[in-house]
Amino acid sequence: MKTTHLPLPSPAPGMQRHLTVHEYGDGPRKAYLQAGLHADEWPGLLTLQHLMEKLDTLEQAGQIRQRIVIVPFANPVGMNQRLFGKFPGRFDATTGQNFNRGMSLSTGALTHRVGHLLNAEADQNDVQVRDALRQLVEEKPAHYEIEALHKALLSQSIDAHLMLDLHCDDHALPHVFYGDHQRPTGAQLSDCLGFAIRLEEDVRGTVAFDGSHTQPWITLAENTGKPFAEPCFAATVELRGQKDVSDALARQDAEGLLAFLEQQGFVSNSGATAQPQQGDTLSINVDQVKVITSPANGLVVYHRALGDWVDAGDLLAEIVLLDSHRPERVPVPAPASGRLFSQTNTFLTSPGASIGMIASKDQQIQPGTQLSY
Ligand SMILES: [Zn+2]
Repeated sequence: MKTTHLPLPSPAPGMQRHLTVHEYGDGPRKAYLQAGLHADEWPGLLTLQHLMEKLDTLEQAGQIRQRIVIVPFANPVGMNQRLFGKFPGRFDATTGQNFNRGMSLSTGALTHRVGHLLNAEADQNDVQVRDALRQLVEEKPAHYEIEALHKALLSQSIDAHLMLDLHCDDHALPHVFYGDHQRPTGAQLSDCLGFAIRLEEDVRGTVAFDGSHTQPWITLAENTGKPFAEPCFAATVELRGQKDVSDALARQDAEGLLAFLEQQGFVSNSGATAQPQQGDTLSINVDQVKVITSPANGLVVYHRALGDWVDAGDLLAEIVLLDSHRPERVPVPAPASGRLFSQTNTFLTSPGASIGMIASKDQQIQPGTQLSY
């Protein structure tokens, strides 16, 4: 294993941050895993430490078959955010930008750069596209610190064949996001992790870090009609909720990730197996996720638990009003039928604030708009 420290541009006098990058193995294919891009989401940080222990052992046994790159903490900028004892971590303090948005490459520039070089040879096309992607990252402007961070991360990840971005929700069942054009691999990942909820998304609209790796390939395929051998598979892995930081869960998730890496040919003889799944598989498009918003300000009390199946109209929660003359509550009926898979940690809520998510069978929002907020 080789470790490098990638310096980030100094944001202020006397301050220097860096990314740590661990690289295992050698070979033409690359798997890239990172955690903590939202710096307030910590389960993945521990999961990667457990995975590295396993990879160390496999490396000593000569069982690493391709390159595996691990960025154990993807956001030293956000990790430095401390505000009155809390860790905000989700948004850049300088620009207000969500750390997991706004890093995608221009697909128009990519098509212009490489479109005319593609032919009927899928393997050759892959090489051309990965070269062009690396060039575009190299040329990416990086004025603000968040831009420099994104550029540094992409410099390690953009040419990967497999990219896994580890996140978590407030309080949630484990779930994964991946492109709806990559269902078989997404299902394989989900099966290895034992995650019942799979959220499939159209990556041609606004994308997060995962979609920034798959959008170029699907756009090029559509614009040019040329074949590719192994476009990047990318996924966001949501490791339950913010408080689900434990060795037991991290060990289990690391084993699931390792089983996936083995099935994908990156390691051999790991002994890792697919993790047991809790509940029936629910594969839906992200457009079918119903976000439950609070109708009032006050305290949320839930009447249904995480993982419950609910029918539209069921009493899901109540908002306890704090400034009424008499004790009073506003009911929150389930806005859709489906499985309640996410709840908020912020119990003091306000009108319009998200207090949960239901995985439903019906379309809830316009396709491609799920990341617009
Ligand atoms: Zn996140």
